[in-house]
Order: sequence, then C-alpha cells, then structure tokens
Amino acid sequence: KVRVRFAPSPTGPLHIGGVRTALFNYLFAKKHNGDFVLRIEDTDQNRYVEGAEDYIVEALNWCGIPFDEGPGKGGNVGPYRQSERKHLYKDYALQLIEKGHAYYAFDTSEQLDFHRKDHEAKGKTFIYNWHNRLKLSNSLSLSAEEVQQKLDAGEKYVIRFKSPQDETLLLNDLIRGEIKIDTNILDDKILFKSDGMPTYHLANIVDDHLMEITHVIRGEEWLPSLALHQLLYNAFGWEAPQFAHLPLIMKPVGKGKLSKRDGEKGGFPVFPLSWNESQGYREAGYFPEAVVNFLALLGWNPGTEQELFSLDELIDAFSLERVNKSGARFDPEKTKWYNHQYLQNYDENILAEQYNFELGKIAASKNVLFDPDEKRVKKIIQLIKERANFLSDFWELSSFFFEAPSTYNEKMVKKQWKEGTSELMQSVAAILEGCNNFDSANIEAQVKNWITEQELSFGKVMGPLRLIIVGDMKGPHLFDILEMIGKEESLNRIATAIN
Ligand code: GLU
Repeated sequence: KVRVRFAPSPTGPLHIGGVRTALFNYLFAKKHNGDFVLRIEDTDQNRYVEGAEDYIVEALNWCGIPFDEGPGKGGNVGPYRQSERKHLYKDYALQLIEKGHAYYAFDTSEQLDFHRKDHEAKGKTFIYNWHNRLKLSNSLSLSAEEVQQKLDAGEKYVIRFKSPQDETLLLNDLIRGEIKIDTNILDDKILFKSDGMPTYHLANIVDDHLMEITHVIRGEEWLPSLALHQLLYNAFGWEAPQFAHLPLIMKPVGKGKLSKRDGEKGGFPVFPLSWNESQGYREAGYFPEAVVNFLALLGWNPGTEQELFSLDELIDAFSLERVNKSGARFDPEKTKWYNHQYLQNYDENILAEQYNFELGKIAASKNVLFDPDEKRVKKIIQLIKERANFLSDFWELSSFFFEAPSTYNEKMVKKQWKEGTSELMQSVAAILEGCNNFDSANIEAQVKNWITEQELSFGKVMGPLRLIIVGDMKGPHLFDILEMIGKEESLNRIATAIN
C-alpha cells in the first residue's frame, strides 16, 4: 500500500513551497488509494517556533488536503512528533556502531574549529571524512580502552556515520532518473547529537522505515542528502522507499528561489495563512481551490492545455512522471487569474451571502443602511463579477448600486459635460419618469428611440448619464444599473447633478 508523508519542521509558518510538497504527496496518495501521513520533525529544539505546528495543520485543512494520520489525529505508527519519539533513536545509532557503519566522535567544537582554520590557512576545506577521520578524536582513531574511558568519564560525544570509501553509489529518483555519486565526496554526517537528540538524517530514516513509508516526495533542497539516506538504509539492511525530489519554486523575476522578501517587495502572499505581519492567501481573499489549482501546476503539468482542475480532477490526472526537473517560476499574476476563474464559477448564493455580510459592515461604518435583499445582491454580483478577482473587489465595482456618487471624476466631467448637457439630462429624466415598466430593456428602448429621433449622438447622452449615475466612466451596462437602483433613485441622481 502506498504511504507517503509530509514531514515539516515547525520552524515557522509553512511557505507555499511546503504546501506544494504536501499537495503533491496528497495527490499521489489519493491517486493510489494510499495514506497521507503528517510527521512533525521537531528534533532541533533551537529552531522550534511556538504555533508553527498548529499553523501547518490549519493550512493543510484550509487547502482541503487533510492528512490521514498525524498529531492530534492518531494512527497505527505514532506518535507523529519526533520529540515524542526521542527515546527510540539512540538504539538505532548504537546498532550502526555495532555493525561498523557509525562511530563515536569526541572532538570538541574548539578542536574542530582549529582544524577548520588550519585547513583554511593551507587553502583547503576541512571535511570530517574518510581522509581526515583517523587524525581526529573518535572511536576509529582511538583504542577501545580510550573510547571506553571517555564514555565512562561522561565525555560529550556525537555519533557520526562512517561514509564508505571508494564506492560508486547508484541512486534513483523518480523525477530525475539515475544519479551516480562517488562516496569519497561525502562527509561523515552526525546522526546523534551530544544533547541526546538524533539529527534530521537519522530520525527521518528511522521514522520513514517504522512508519512504512513507500515514497518520499520532497523538495529539491534535500537531493544532496539522498546519498546519505540511501547509505543509511543499506547500513540498517532496510529496503529504502522510492524518492522523488520536486523542482524549486523560483522568484517571479531573476534567479533564485521564491522567498518571503519577494512577497514583501511584490505585494503578494507567499504563505497560505497570515503569520504575524505577513498576509496569507486566505486573508488576501483567495479561494483554497484556486490556491491548490495554481500550486499543482507549479512544477507539474498535465500534458494538455487544461489549466483549471478541481481537486478530484487533479488526483485523477496527477503523476510523478509529469513533474518537471527544472525550477517552476512563480507568477503572482497567474495566481490572481486562477482566483478570477474560480470566482466566476463560484456558487452565487454563497457569494451573495458573503457580500451581504461585507455590505453590512460597510453600511455600519458609514452609519447608513443598505438594502439587504439577497436576490438583489446576487443580481448585482452577476453584473460585476467578470471584472473582479476577489470578493474584496466587489465594493469598488458596485458601490453605486447602493449609494449615489459622492464625487464625480473631474477629468471625465471636463470631457463629457458640454454646453447643453444639463438640458439633455433633463429630457432623459422626463423619459425615465414616463417609463411605467422600469426594466433595463424597456428603458433602453425608450431612451435610444428618443436619441435617434432627436438625431443626437449616443455618446453625448450616455457619457454624462453614466457620470451622473456612477460618478465615473466605469461599471456594467448602464440600463442594468438604472433598473437596479430604480426610478426614484435614478431621477434623484440626475436632479442632484444638474441642479
Ligand atoms: N524536516 C524536513 C523539512 O523540514 C523534511 C525533509 C524530508 O521530507 O525528508 O523539510
């Protein structure tokens, strides 16, 4: 059975790159009727950030990609926080020592610093590896008695992995294919720290094994660790899961990966939910479905022109074979386009309800009352939504349905208001006054007939009329607006403008 995991470290808010990793894991799991596990990798206590785990859980839920097993939810292979599993790891490190794949190292940080500087002085870089390990203080260079003495004396130690010498390692990545690594370039990574905690590498492998993970899908930044991870599986004698390393998400322009700073500079979110002063997609008014849709196409492509996918369609279409190798450029305009698309197809009753709620707040702030008729609000939304990306654009696009303009765009007034305009508007008022049936089509016919009869130009009448009704040269079909605000209000606005 396919089992995948998302294994974030709770060091801060989840970045959308992290959400994308979670999403690809989720899609892969669901596609294969597998399990999606959340594991919190909190072994580095110095980098632990309060609230980060809750944030991660909330973000996944908001996106609609909940995990099947994880903290707070349980499962057969828990606990799912590494800090709650810490009693477990040391035995595995000791097992590797016994098998000759790992060793104790007693070097103090001063000693290591000395070696680093010494190497630097000779123009070299110090690496704790096959070449240097016998010159350092560890259970490979010291006698068994010396080692025992140090351990008995309670000297601080770490446990390091003994990377093999002179081997060529053949690695496989489901996205990148075969990768060859010369083991001599590897350093002897620390597996177990002097504070009694495992490092990421050890805990990650032990847990993936114990949690029966079949596929590891994670960001490209972990590709350099793949060799060590494969060696660890070999050393334990365990079957390794299959690996897939997802391409980086690149900044909108220039080189490098997308960072929080790009978002700050460009005024777009890089987090799913707000975190301190950084705005999230949720708070910026994005639909989770739109966020999931655009994230899915960051690094994956369906092989067709289709861009809009529901979550179910994504599950259906997804495959690791169609994940790209090269970085995926993040395009904030495209994310807005996605939201626009979802807004157009969103349930209008829900939109009307939500907008009505917003309208209530706006009215309260102005100390007035707006007509709360939800049917009317729904009609208004139908008239304006094609110009909107977000629900928060609605007011700007529709305020004139609810209140008369308080100002008129001056530039437009200069352009539209000519000699004789007031008189024309007076006549329009008279025509409107005479319309017993005040629906859009009827008023349009009446006004246009009159324009034709008088041999006037349409612009001469319609331009100023729009200015009077809307305050600017924008908005949907003018006769639709007139119908919506009604005869009395239409006449009032004309009267206000020409008097
Ligand atoms: N804890 C690692 C992270 O924060 C997990 C990497 C992995 O998936 O192996 O990204």
